[in-house]
Amino acid sequence: MRVALIAHDKKKDEMVNFAKANEERLSKLELYATGTTGLRIMENTNLEIHRLKSGPLGGDQQIGALVSEQKLDLVIFLRDPLTSQPHEPDVNALLRLCDVYAIPLATNVSTAQLVLDALHK
Ligand code: PGA
Repeated sequence: MRVALIAHDKKKDEMVNFAKANEERLSKLELYATGTTGLRIMENTNLEIHRLKSGPLGGDQQIGALVSEQKLDLVIFLRDPLTSQPHEPDVNALLRLCDVYAIPLATNVSTAQLVLDALHK
């Protein structure tokens, strides 16, 4: 299972807490993340992550490319719904590609937890 982890700035603490709470399960998956999200997770866990560029610098597009090549099985993207992002077009493009290729996409931590629990079963 190849999983991408992305969190907007105001959601990074939530992502770190999610990763810590699910560290053992996540350690069995191949993890990809945008630059800062990946760094924050690696600083706070022992998880190994393929870090891509930071989201605003092209990281979301790199994740989108992996989706289009069907190299990802799940995208966990903790979006900040209350703050506009300078790279909104990239964010929308990534969400769109997940739907184009029917890749499971969790955009909040409750859904992410449900999906991870379901995978575990
Ligand atoms: P970041 O990118 O992990 O490098 O902060 C996430 C994003 O804003 O898309």
